[in-house]
Amino acid sequence: MFLLRWLWSNLSGYRGRYIAAMFLSVICQSMYIITPMMSQRIVDTFIVAENGAEMVRTQPDLLIMMVAAMIGFTFLRTCMTYSANMLYESTSQAVMYRVRKKLYDNINMQDATFYHTHRTGDIMTRMSGDMDMVRHSVAWIIKNVLESLVLFIVSIVYFFSMDPITALCLIALTPVIFIASFIFKRKVRPMYVNLREKLSQMNTLAEENISGNRVVKAFAREDHEIKRFDEKSREYSAANKAAALKWMDFFPTIEITAQALSVVQLVACGIFVVMGRITVGEFTAFAGLIWTLANPMRNIGTIINDFQRFSASANKIIELYYGRTKVADREDAVELTERIKGDIEFKNVSFSYGKTRVLHDINLNIKAGETVAIMGATGSGKTTLVELISRIYDVESGQVTVDGHDVRMMRLKQLRESVGVATQDVLLYSDTVEGNIAFGNVDMSKDEVTKCADIADAGGFIQKLSEGYETIIGERGVGLSGGQKQRIALARAVAVKPSILILDDTTSAVDLETETRIQEHLRNLDFNCTKIIIAQRISSAKDADKIVILKDGTISDIGTHEELIRREGYYKEVYELQR
Ligand code: ADP
Repeated sequence: MFLLRWLWSNLSGYRGRYIAAMFLSVICQSMYIITPMMSQRIVDTFIVAENGAEMVRTQPDLLIMMVAAMIGFTFLRTCMTYSANMLYESTSQAVMYRVRKKLYDNINMQDATFYHTHRTGDIMTRMSGDMDMVRHSVAWIIKNVLESLVLFIVSIVYFFSMDPITALCLIALTPVIFIASFIFKRKVRPMYVNLREKLSQMNTLAEENISGNRVVKAFAREDHEIKRFDEKSREYSAANKAAALKWMDFFPTIEITAQALSVVQLVACGIFVVMGRITVGEFTAFAGLIWTLANPMRNIGTIINDFQRFSASANKIIELYYGRTKVADREDAVELTERIKGDIEFKNVSFSYGKTRVLHDINLNIKAGETVAIMGATGSGKTTLVELISRIYDVESGQVTVDGHDVRMMRLKQLRESVGVATQDVLLYSDTVEGNIAFGNVDMSKDEVTKCADIADAGGFIQKLSEGYETIIGERGVGLSGGQKQRIALARAVAVKPSILILDDTTSAVDLETETRIQEHLRNLDFNCTKIIIAQRISSAKDADKIVILKDGTISDIGTHEELIRREGYYKEVYELQR
């Protein structure tokens, strides 16, 4: 019921259209009764009646009118069915568009924890296959349920109006159908939940292998990965088959009951005609309409299967649809009117991923315009620390402030627009080089793009690309070296003229000469900017105003290059090693 309510809420604006479609469905199904009703009249009046021949002679108009009406109603029904289908289809597309948009907006708003806990393949399955099940339910399942139900009820009412006893004999069989479908529904439900999960696993594996194709090739793991995919594909196929075959356990019961209807109809009606209880015309009507009881019965399997499939998919969609992100704008968040200066302070900051504490009681003050380097062993918490500034995560305790404002009290959009980030792990879009650089600031002029590229020392190699700034970069930057991708990412981060620029090991793949040039350019930016550089190399950190050393989530040392090389510790060790 909840699923239907959810669908209904997404039908707003199209409800009139959908109700019109349902109304047409009801009329069309009811009209199926008219043809046999007419034939009953024709049989009783013109064929089996004692004065039948005379009736044809004396009242040919009546016969012609009845036959014309039969043809007319059939034509009308066809037109109405066509209109209803068009309405169902257009409504379902509109609902799908709306849900897909809401889903996509919601996914985009999610925080980092969401992306760590949801596999891309699973999200994609929700956005594609599951979405199509929502469309299918609006355009087909609900229509099918309604039409089967209406046909069933209308024919029962008509049967009762002709002869209640014959009608009772026929509907005496229906409880068998209901019991069988109830049991079937309970058995098949978990199968569709499983099927949905298998589809998601298969898509996840395919997605991972496509995005990780370089690793697969580098380790010559193609055969292994093909085998793994084959396994998942087989499991999906088996789950599909199992769900489809489950119906076969019930099919004989339903089919025998549906067939039994014809036998009961033939025997009961035959006896009642002989007894004079019903007319031959009524017999014809019963015989002509027996399918209106049998067909909905036969449809029940398809309906239950479809509905369970829809239910498994819709539950997955709803989870995302109503998913709330923890990192969001507070209602009383403040919008700063001036450009952020870039003062940053960490006050007693602690942070955990789940139960694992990765930052302990960090206190750090960074003044606007300063360049601060953060160094430390892998896993010491460097990335996590800087991610707290732009609220990729929120602190567990303590406070991070920017220009004296707790970041949780700032408007998220304003905060993030003020922070430019270039990560070591570069993701570029399948777009031109220019489009990638202007990603955060689409209104940039060509000159500005070139200027940013030059700051990142990328102008030279970009011009050598086949179409310069217009060159389309392949998905994930295929076609560029690691260092080139890093430099485009740096240009992209600089392009938003951020108040705070975070470089997370951004120059790790560029040579020392280039790095020196980039550092020089960054020192001379024409906007105020606080720079935080996460580095592994002394060369990236040595010119910073202060260098922070992180060890197991705490600040173990802090100072300038000169100060740190004079005392024992991590920095001096690295310095000695890299000299
Ligand atoms: P660094 O940048 O210094 O290498 P990180 O900040 O990336 O360190 O990671 C600090 C610790 O937190 C590591 O032990 C890492 O395994 C853990 N960690 C990082 N990201 C996650 C995550 N999304 N979920 C759980 N643990 C994480």
